[in-house]
Amino acid sequence: MTLAALALACLLAITVCYYLVCWVNPFGRCRTCTGTGLLMPTGRLRSRPKPCRRCQATGRRLRIGRRLHNHSTTARAAARRIRDDAHR
Ligand SMILES: [Zn+2]
Repeated sequence: MTLAALALACLLAITVCYYLVCWVNPFGRCRTCTGTGLLMPTGRLRSRPKPCRRCQATGRRLRIGRRLHNHSTTARAAARRIRDDAHR
């Protein structure tokens, strides 16, 4: 097996694993609030934690792979709808 084929096999394995992770667990932790849903105040005295605006205080975000999957599914459905309407 050549080095290129080995590298290709590794990339394919990583892609399949990431696809499975996106399928099993489509949501990841929000990177802004680290999954708490709250942003801690910095510096000011007696200021309260604010809800995270990036994740709407859920603490979760849709993974990039799942977002791509949802986008392609929606685009494919729209293309199918347009094709079916053209044949009527
Ligand atoms: Zn957040």
